[in-house]
Amino acid sequence: MTTCPTTLPDTTSATRAFRDRVIVRDEIDRYLRTGDFIDEARIEADLRRAVNPDPARIRDILAKSLAIETLLPEETAVLLQVADPGLRQAMEATALAIKHKVYDNRIVTFAPMYISSYCVNRCQYCGFNADNSQQRRRQLTLDEIRAEAAAMCGRDGHKRVMAVYGEHPRTGASFIAESLQAIYSVEVKTRRGKTSVRRINVNAAPMSIDDLKIIRKGGIGTFQVFQETYHRRTYAKVHPADTIKGDYDWRVTCMHRAFDAGIDDVGLGVLFGLADWKFEVMGLVTHARELERHAKIGPHTFSVPRLHPASGSDISRHTPSPFTDDDFIHALTVLRLAVPYTGLICTARESEALRNRCLGLGITQMDASTRIGVGAYAAEPVCQEIDKQQFLLGDNRTLEQLICDLARRGTITSFCTAGYRCGRTGGCIMDALKTGKEGKFCKVNAVLTFREWLDDFASPEALKICEPVLLSELAEIREQLPAFYPVVKAHYDRIAAGERDLFF
Ligand code: SAM
Ligand code: SF4
Repeated sequence: MTTCPTTLPDTTSATRAFRDRVIVRDEIDRYLRTGDFIDEARIEADLRRAVNPDPARIRDILAKSLAIETLLPEETAVLLQVADPGLRQAMEATALAIKHKVYDNRIVTFAPMYISSYCVNRCQYCGFNADNSQQRRRQLTLDEIRAEAAAMCGRDGHKRVMAVYGEHPRTGASFIAESLQAIYSVEVKTRRGKTSVRRINVNAAPMSIDDLKIIRKGGIGTFQVFQETYHRRTYAKVHPADTIKGDYDWRVTCMHRAFDAGIDDVGLGVLFGLADWKFEVMGLVTHARELERHAKIGPHTFSVPRLHPASGSDISRHTPSPFTDDDFIHALTVLRLAVPYTGLICTARESEALRNRCLGLGITQMDASTRIGVGAYAAEPVCQEIDKQQFLLGDNRTLEQLICDLARRGTITSFCTAGYRCGRTGGCIMDALKTGKEGKFCKVNAVLTFREWLDDFASPEALKICEPVLLSELAEIREQLPAFYPVVKAHYDRIAAGERDLFF
């Protein structure tokens, strides 16, 4: 285990020097030359004008979403102001229809791996905040990272990891790249074959273009950074100005830099509960449209974390801007409708009941067997300790339990990681998603990877619940893609015989 001080030795000079090294002013200014693309006055005006929307207008907007077109901010505002239960139902039904059109009948699973809780920032809502003396901090060594990877893929069968890092000189770009390589290097024997982590997404602080190039070479999947709040005054209240994170503009331009560094797969998010949730949804959609303008590629995913209790954080227990379960459902529905090709991640921060409800709104990714302590997968027994993790979780289902619950609803779990490894990312995947082509690839790869997981990890009870879903998906491929089916079936049979990692 590596130990180092929470903050740098002298918070006023060393932290400032670190901040000045990290933030490259020119790499903010070049993206904001025409002004702030998050135009608060315009967002607020759009929301005001959209109060009491006309049902006919809503139906027109839903038709546009169903054609997989990104909505305008003013159209998004209209959907956010719908209060009528019948119209809300129509919106949810359309959201689910879009999910099926773009992503078919599948959910992708992953698990977060917390690599370091050291952080120089002082975000008021986070247990890793540098001022929190209750937090027992830890940074994994490369050996410990390999042990985590082995535990995650060997015990539960995870193939996708979200690697999470605090911001600290000890966890700079080179360390992140090395840690990705360490995770990819682990191969574990299973009941019928072998397995490994095949895709690593990264949730880390914004970086310079040079640093982003380093983590691209390390093998990053999606680069995920949440703006936390798009509302500048609220942002300033919860992120002290003398920290790196206190620089709103450095954060809001980080995906522009990612694209310019060659990372064409990015994830946006907001920490709901800090500012008005309708404003935040408008912020996310506006940001997505700006990325479409800048790089011709929108975000691959939206994340919708909301404040959960964290050690040493008062505001995590007293949400500054209430965000109820019903607001959560409304926000997810509007995001699915406003940017129809973008995946939606609903994490184990939320309860099992709410996550099940969100399946009906078109979410695409869920985590399970989730542990958010640093080094928590290799450690036994499993426990949630608030002083050893960022916040507390709401859903503690294992991956097998989640997979069985999904199968009972007729939904297949996908472990597919082929898109990224075949170069179907960025603009290429956006086009494939918009035209429904990616859904077909995904269906085939979902079937192949689910066969692998069932043979390697499923209990006899899980097998009984899941096998019918798998066979019905296979039958659908035979019916819908008759010319392709023989090749798919040949791959399927090879996997059933013990070969691994075959994909299209
Ligand atoms: N340090 C990096 C950063 O802040 O961008 C990435 C890691 S940070 C641990 C990942 C995310 O956790 C943050 O972007 C924030 O949205 C979320 N988070 C922080 N505190 C939280 C809390 N109390 N409840 C729920 N999510 C929280
Ligand atoms: Fe550090 Fe990220 Fe937590 Fe802020 S949210 S304190 S930057 S780990």
